[in-house]
Formats: sequence, structure tokens, C-alpha cells
Amino acid sequence: MYAYRTLRVEIPWRLVEERPDVLDLVTRMRLAAEEYVRRLLKEVTGQEESGLTAEELDRLLTPDRRELAVKIIEEVFPKYDLKKYFVNQGKVFWRDVVFHRAVPLDAQLRIENERDVGRAVFVDLRSEVLKVRRLNETFVVRLRRNDIAWIRERLEEGAKLKLAFLGVERRRGREPTYGKLYIALVFARETAPVEPKAVVAVDVNRLDHGIMVGLLVDGKIVRRMRLLDEGAVRELRRLHEEISRLDERAAREADPARKRRLEDRARHLASKRFRKMRDVVIRIAGEIIKLAREHQAVIVLDTMEDESYRELKEGDGSGVRKHFLDGLGQLRRRLQTLAEWYGLPYLEERLYSTICPRCGAKMEGLSNRRMHCPSCGFSDHRDNVPLIWAKKRYWELLQKQPAFSATILLLTS
Ligand SMILES: [Zn+2]
Repeated sequence: MYAYRTLRVEIPWRLVEERPDVLDLVTRMRLAAEEYVRRLLKEVTGQEESGLTAEELDRLLTPDRRELAVKIIEEVFPKYDLKKYFVNQGKVFWRDVVFHRAVPLDAQLRIENERDVGRAVFVDLRSEVLKVRRLNETFVVRLRRNDIAWIRERLEEGAKLKLAFLGVERRRGREPTYGKLYIALVFARETAPVEPKAVVAVDVNRLDHGIMVGLLVDGKIVRRMRLLDEGAVRELRRLHEEISRLDERAAREADPARKRRLEDRARHLASKRFRKMRDVVIRIAGEIIKLAREHQAVIVLDTMEDESYRELKEGDGSGVRKHFLDGLGQLRRRLQTLAEWYGLPYLEERLYSTICPRCGAKMEGLSNRRMHCPSCGFSDHRDNVPLIWAKKRYWELLQKQPAFSATILLLTS
């Protein structure tokens, strides 16, 4: 089985300004990919807006659709003035284009003195640069020290650079605009699934309350920890309040120049909030994966039902909760990607916090987040209840087959 991880290398604005042809090409690639996907999915599903999940796409894009896909690519790509190389790559990777809304490029990684074979993306670890070809002129990005360290870690784990994408961030708004450019490097590694000897149960109800993690060995809870970065949560709340204030002021502002300044400031803080959230998620996921690797554990994530998730997300006027919930979505994707990367089984199961693990009755909440069962008298802290459920289901969880996972979470690094 293959597992994938992606490194996203941002292209500095200065370079983009010097080379408008790059932004132009990447935007055309994106638009071509979007039109191709729209047309292909309409032909396959008969619907205009499909909103399909990655798993559903994976099932739909069977090999017999290839001919249709190739025909659409041949019609659509030249309309956006994409050269032969991109059309050919699109045809070879016709499924991947659907998942990523981008055209995969072939890539080479030079570690020592290997010969440069002229691929579209050339990553040279020795001179610490990344070159993108197949443009009017070659485009060179200097690799940051963190990027190089990340690549070396993947190489030590036996991974290889498979392919690359040129991506452009799409900004939401009345008229979609295109912003930051990046190069995504996709690494692949063959993994052998680990035979689990323990369970790591993860309760993800609220990112701002902390993530409860329990380690279970031989059917017993041997460790519990709450992963919470209070400083980061405070900072996220503060950023959120400031962004809301700026948005309100911008909405009231009549002077166009001042309005734009307020909006720019809000956008700047929003990307800061995004990075902060990502850092929190990376740290928490890192600790969970470390624990699971040390004990060869299956990772069991308590999933909220989609309905209650939606209710929570929509029911909050201030919106701050929405961002913590988005953070949970990121955490879930990251845990799944990393679990696959290390061959750890990953499950999503309901581990209830309001249903009595002793008798199955609905429990009531007392003060201090304690839960009490009116039917059998069981009582415990709300955070412990999901771990007790994991303990109750320990042997079953250990033997359960991991959920279906396609190789489609590529862009979640
Ligand atoms: Zn009970």
C-alpha cells in the first residue's frame, strides 16, 4: 500500500511580481482543470453541482471513464492555451486532476550528483533550489531550511518524490480572485500495516477545550492526557474578535480607500489565524502519532455525527466556534494522513460522552462537566466517558479493519 505526504513550497510574492507569466500560467491551469472537472462530473453523474466526497469520486472514476476524460481534456486544455506537455500530463493523470483541481507535473529530486533528466519540476537538495520548467523561462525558488529538513526526514523514511503541482490559492468573494502561488511536492512511500497491540482513543469534541487522548493496553486505560495549548487558544480568540471588529467597521465605512485598508488588515489577520490554527493542529497530531507509534496502536477517533457538527457550526452567531470546528476537521485529515504514512490503523467510531457506558441509558450533565446516569447511578467526568467506551470496546477495536481510505488526501501535507 502506498501512502502520500505533501510539502507545500510557497512562491514569494517578489518572484511572482517579476514573473507575471507564472501567475498567468498557473491561473490558466486552474481554470482549465476546473472546467474539465465540471464537464466530466456532469457527464458521469448528470448533475451540475456534484459536491461529491473524495471516496465517492474514487468510486466514480473507474478506468472505463478514461476515454471520456481524455476527450474533454483535449477540448478544454487548448482553450486555456496550455501546451502539449500539460495536455499529456492531464491525460495520464486524468483522475488526479479531478481530486486536486490541478495538473500534476513530473518531478525529479537530486540528492547528490544525479543527472538532471529535464523534468518539469527539479528539486536540487545540494544547491537548495527548486526549478520549475515548461514555462516561458525557468522559474527558480530557493528552498527554506525547514523544507529541506522535511524532505530529508521523508527520504530517511524511504519516501520518493512522485510528482508536483503548481497551485494557486483561490480567495472567496463575489468575484473569485487568485492569490498566493505554491508548488506542492508529493512524496510517496510504501507502507506495511502495523499489527496493532494497543488503542489510542482520541476525543475531539472541542479543540478549544483540549483534545482528550487515552492510551489503552490489554483492555485497560494506562494513560490519559489532555492536549491543549491555552496560550494558542487565547490568541486565536483574540484574533477572531479583532477580525470581527474590522469586518464590522469595513461594512460601515463609506470611504473606499479606508474601507479597503480595513479589509486588507482583516485579511492579513485571517491568514495569521489560519497559520496559528494549523500550528496547533500540527502539534496535537504530532503528539498523538508519536504515542501511537511508540505503542503500535490503532488510532480511534471519536467522530461527531455530521448532523450535530453542522448544527454546531451553524448555530453559533459569533463564528469563533466555527473556526475551532474547522480546526477539528484539519486535525482529523492530518491524523488520517499521518496514520497511513506510518502504517498505523485508523478508525473513526462513536465514543459517546453522554450515553452511559455501563447500562446504555442517556446520562445527564451535572455541574463541573460531570455526567450522571439516572438509571444505574454511574458517574464520571465527561472527558473520561469516551475513554471508558473505548475500554469497553477494546478487543473489538483492536480487530476492526481500518476504514476505506483512498490516496486522495494528498494535499493535506
Ligand atoms: Zn447507566
